[in-house]
Amino acid sequence: MTFVIMVDISDAVPVTIHKDSCSYYTNRKLGATTTVWCQANTMEDAEMLARRLVKSQGSKHAGCCLDGASL
Ligand SMILES: [Zn+2]
Repeated sequence: MTFVIMVDISDAVPVTIHKDSCSYYTNRKLGATTTVWCQANTMEDAEMLARRLVKSQGSKHAGCCLDGASL
């Protein structure tokens, strides 16, 4: 399984980790200017990357496809 990390450019919401099968990712708007998605091959990599990408809102597992836990 591959994971994806959603980063909100405006820093309005936490950095969230989703499964790459999540509809938030598969239905994402292409060309969106406020959101960047990064891919990671393992949850460990995803968490490490998410922590690195955090600004002020923290980071968490998405509640839609994962357990919603804060990192
Ligand atoms: Zn999700």
